[in-house]
Amino acid sequence: MEFFDKLDLNNDTQAENKMSENTEHVKCLIIGSGPAGYTAAIYASRANMTPVMYEGLQPGGQLTTTTEVENFPGYPEGVTGPVMMEDLKKQAQRFGADIRWGLATAVDFSTMPRKVTIDGNKTIEADTVIIATGATAKYLGLEDEQKYAGSGVSACATCDGFFYRGKDVAVVGGGDTAAEEALYLAGLCNKVYLIVRRNEMRASKVMQERVFKTENIEVLWEHQTKGLTGEGVVEGAVLYKKKGTPEEEEVTIKIDGFFLAIGHKPNSDIFAEYIDVDEVGYINTVAGTAQTNVEGVFACGDVQDSHYRQAVTAAGSGCMAAIDAERYWSEKFA
Ligand code: NDP
Repeated sequence: MEFFDKLDLNNDTQAENKMSENTEHVKCLIIGSGPAGYTAAIYASRANMTPVMYEGLQPGGQLTTTTEVENFPGYPEGVTGPVMMEDLKKQAQRFGADIRWGLATAVDFSTMPRKVTIDGNKTIEADTVIIATGATAKYLGLEDEQKYAGSGVSACATCDGFFYRGKDVAVVGGGDTAAEEALYLAGLCNKVYLIVRRNEMRASKVMQERVFKTENIEVLWEHQTKGLTGEGVVEGAVLYKKKGTPEEEEVTIKIDGFFLAIGHKPNSDIFAEYIDVDEVGYINTVAGTAQTNVEGVFACGDVQDSHYRQAVTAAGSGCMAAIDAERYWSEKFA
């Protein structure tokens, strides 16, 4: 440990990556900074890939909006999301990762080296690119979601459910996430309304059965949210029942928490011209690897994972991406 503390590895990184005023050439560019990006940075630094990371709009990613993380191995007492992200960042910097503020705004993967524009005005030419841009929770688009952000509106029950112990809450959505979040909240809260816009759920049968068997979950079929009410914090929601039909009516429920669980949008838009994505936008990787369809470009974390979406699986895939990038670089450029 002391050995690494004494080395000024950041300077080594900068020296090895050739610089000019607005264009810079790097061996390994990491875009995005959640558990996937930071883990990729740790592994890539230790493999002498002298990685440069741009952290993006939300340094640390989705976990910085969570409170306690209790399921990441190595923290027996739990840890807050922001502290864990800071730990991962320091660990990557200790091995020389060059971590910078900045947002990737465009890419050109048609040339070699690959080109990535940062903040619209700087070009990074990279031998390898690791995409770790994560995913963003979807919202309904109601003004009230912003008005009550952090005051009763949340897109992560496992993060924020604890604050609503013994209270009444609502979850919006009919997929596996909504079912999972409703079940999680049912274990903490007095009552959970599950607001489903159709007369059936998209969630797997087994999850639906669990929801139906849970006494303190009430499914509000064919309901949509009109707005939220409350003095400074959420105190209720106004819903449409059977919107757009002759039986349409307004329904009011009393709740303290309003949880969105209507899916996530992978942050892959700027890559979509070059990178294969699925119908939702998740980046397709070659099974068992982090390799995308573009040579030298790798993807890890939630931007390529619609299924597990956990910090620990994101970190694992970040490790895979760095190892794949290093092997590719050694074969191609060493
Ligand atoms: P999904 O896309 O599967 O479901 C989204 C749900 O939100 C749907 O019921 C959809 O309704 C509803 N919805 C979307 N937009 C609106 C809107 N504007 N107003 C009201 N409702 C809306 O997303 P999930 O996050 O649930 O799941 C994503 C993937 O992850 C799935 O493949 C899922 O199986 C998987 N997953 C698996 C888990 C597990 O196995 N334990 C846990 C969590 C997720 P509609 O049905 O009408 O379109």
